[in-house]
Amino acid sequence: MALLAVALAAATALACWGAYRWAEAGARAALTLNGDQRLGLYASSIRNAVGRYDYLPFLVARDHEVLGLLEQPSEPARDAVNRRLEAANAAAGSAALYVVDRDGLALASSNWRDPAQSFVGQTYDFRPYFRQAVEDGGGRYFGIGVTTGLPGYFLSQAVRQAERLIGVAVVKIDLEPLQHDWTAGGERVLVTDENGIVFLSSHADWRYRALRPLPAAVKARLAETRQYDRSDLKPLGLHDGPVEESGARLVSLPDPAAGPAAPAAARRAYLMQELPLPEFGWTIRLLSDLEPVRTEAAGAAVLTAMGILLLAAASALGYQRRQTLRLQREARAMLERRVEERTAELVTANRVLREAQEELVQAGKLAALGQMSAALAHEINQPLAAIRTFVASTRLLAERGETVLVRDNLAMIGDLAERMAVLSGHLKDFARKGPARVEAVPVARAMDRALALLAPRLRDEDIRVEQAIPAEARVRGDAVRLEQVFVNLLRNAADAMDAVADDRRLTLTAARVAEGWEIRIRDTGTGIAEAHQFQLFDPFFTTKEVGQGLGLGLSLSYGIVRDFGGTLRAENNPDGGACFVVLLPEAHDG
Ligand code: ADP
Repeated sequence: MALLAVALAAATALACWGAYRWAEAGARAALTLNGDQRLGLYASSIRNAVGRYDYLPFLVARDHEVLGLLEQPSEPARDAVNRRLEAANAAAGSAALYVVDRDGLALASSNWRDPAQSFVGQTYDFRPYFRQAVEDGGGRYFGIGVTTGLPGYFLSQAVRQAERLIGVAVVKIDLEPLQHDWTAGGERVLVTDENGIVFLSSHADWRYRALRPLPAAVKARLAETRQYDRSDLKPLGLHDGPVEESGARLVSLPDPAAGPAAPAAARRAYLMQELPLPEFGWTIRLLSDLEPVRTEAAGAAVLTAMGILLLAAASALGYQRRQTLRLQREARAMLERRVEERTAELVTANRVLREAQEELVQAGKLAALGQMSAALAHEINQPLAAIRTFVASTRLLAERGETVLVRDNLAMIGDLAERMAVLSGHLKDFARKGPARVEAVPVARAMDRALALLAPRLRDEDIRVEQAIPAEARVRGDAVRLEQVFVNLLRNAADAMDAVADDRRLTLTAARVAEGWEIRIRDTGTGIAEAHQFQLFDPFFTTKEVGQGLGLGLSLSYGIVRDFGGTLRAENNPDGGACFVVLLPEAHDG
């Protein structure tokens, strides 16, 4: 489990990292493309800003009044040229328009009216745009004005008269508005010159700073030309990072928003893209903040992580559900198996019990037979003795020719023989082991037969029998078995009354109840001890002396009654003695 968690965590981390890199690369590619387009836009805006004034120095250089002033300087000529330059400058919208002689001395200028700003009388021979014009006929140069202190782009043109250089015409262009546009657009734009000095920027902090530290020779030359006047050109503090495939470079800069007092650690990472402007010797640089790229990439990583976690949670839930279902299925299967096993066990146990019970029934019958043999011997011997006596007297009567008396005697003998036949029939039935037949059994007749079997004992022990079983009481069962039940119950009752001195009485009744017929066998015996209440029907439970009882009678009876769909229970009479209640379903004819 722990291993799985670690693997999952590792896979998630890997996926997040991948998503981060993928999103970052995508966002950076978009940033680069956008940057390239914007750089192109800025380049053309710079070209436009400068190109608009290209014609001005040419125009000035061909003006005959300018030529006249340069050939023959005079106050009226200067005054006229000053006004012409002023008008032209105002019309073009340039910063300044002026004319210097071939020594670099300004003779006339558009700003002649302002004594503090006027170029007139100033010497510009050290300015590169002057030298370029002298040497090459034309020059262009960015610098901070030595007179005004305002930066500007200078375009110069040699003024010639018949191939002879007589002066230089110069226009100064204000590039500040470009910067304002960038600043307003929230851009980070730098324009550097050939020395890597930032002279235009959307951010004032970056202006007149060196992109990278300057060599001493360059510094010296800059001081000489006073290009950036008194600016100290401190390095910007740019740290170079790797160069991308697109040519863009990863750099970091002190955060301009953090202010100059911020610690060195307050740097921001940018993607720096460059576009050279070869005609000026400049390079435009665009810095794109990498923070949004990182945020986007981090968002992608977080989304990926969430997605993976969701997936993991979903699959864990699914797994758990499957697991639960499987466990439930297994539990159910186990339960079913258990039930089947128990059922099989019960079926087996039932069969074993049934077999045992049947054997016990058989054994019980034999035991009963054994017990009854004495009574039977008595029962058979008595009629036998009587028959013998009747036969002897009949012989005498026959010899006397008393035919009527002989016939009476013979009838008596026949009765006795019949009684013996009935007895032997009962014996046969009793010993027979057979399946229970279910028939309609008249309760009274079964009881009579049981009483007949026990008659000698009842008589000997002076037991009174009160029988009130209605003739219509017919139950479903097997006559012989029901007799066996009754015999058991009657014999137990007789046993219980052994110890009773007087009023030995059996009350036999049957009453119709909802479930069938309720047959009650009541005695006036000892009753049932409370302790034995629940054991009576157990096999081999007996309170009788050894040889007197096996403790099977009630158990067998119980089984038989139950086989007929009935019940057998015992209770004590309120006035003493026990009562056994046999409840059997009523037999309906047919
Ligand atoms: P056995 O008669 O061989 O003892 P039974 O199963 O017939 O076996 O009877 C079990 C026991 O139930 C008897 O030993 C006796 O204690 C008690 N019993 C049965 N019938 C009566 C009765 N009518 N009155 C009191 N006790 C009885």
